[in-house]
Amino acid sequence: MRIILLGAPGSGKGTLAKKISRDFDIPQISTGDLFRAIVKENSPLAEKVKSIMASGGLVPDEITVELVKERISRPDCKKGFILDGFPRTIAQAEALEKISQIDSVILVELANEIIIDRLSSRRTCPNCGEIYSVQDNPENVCKKCSTPLIQRDDDKPETIKHRLEVYENSTSPLINFYSDRLFKVSSAGSPDQTYMPVKTFLEKLEAKGE
Ligand code: AMP
Repeated sequence: MRIILLGAPGSGKGTLAKKISRDFDIPQISTGDLFRAIVKENSPLAEKVKSIMASGGLVPDEITVELVKERISRPDCKKGFILDGFPRTIAQAEALEKISQIDSVILVELANEIIIDRLSSRRTCPNCGEIYSVQDNPENVCKKCSTPLIQRDDDKPETIKHRLEVYENSTSPLINFYSDRLFKVSSAGSPDQTYMPVKTFLEKLEAKGE
């Protein structure tokens, strides 16, 4: 089962991807996580990616496509994968068409005001990537690995606005691009409420052998 999660930053793709990954036993491939790992290295690419991410812009398509191409060629992707945060441009989607057949695209929908609210209160574990909100985890320590949580630089108000504009301009045209394979879900409710219809949909997809 090869799936794309499409949606604005902060719409809940990461949380949803983790649930799908656990239940359907396919890896979550988050290009944001892959880039955050690259940024920790000491290389010219790390410097370049770091400044792009800090501004809320997009890493160039060639770099991003190569990264995903390599990642989905690994053995753990044989059974399928969930792309979380890729593709983000039409050029990336066209490149992906040439390297893999995508079965379904799940569009996670959420109003911008709620996104801004959620992103501003989002805290991330720099060690295992687990996501929390300040309200749910006032201790500010990861419940899985006890690492102190951080606020991502790009989750700060000035960058959030730009990331939403980039989504609107560069990524939202993908909704049309994938109109033949689109499954829409609202993430306005709890993570489990969001997941329920997606799970039912994917179980049917799996039963069809895709
Ligand atoms: P995310 O964690 O998905 O919100 O991604 C964090 C940042 O990584 C984005 O704001 C971009 O700077 C970069 N990034 C992630 N995925 C992509 C992509 N598919 N294309 C270009 N840049 C990306």
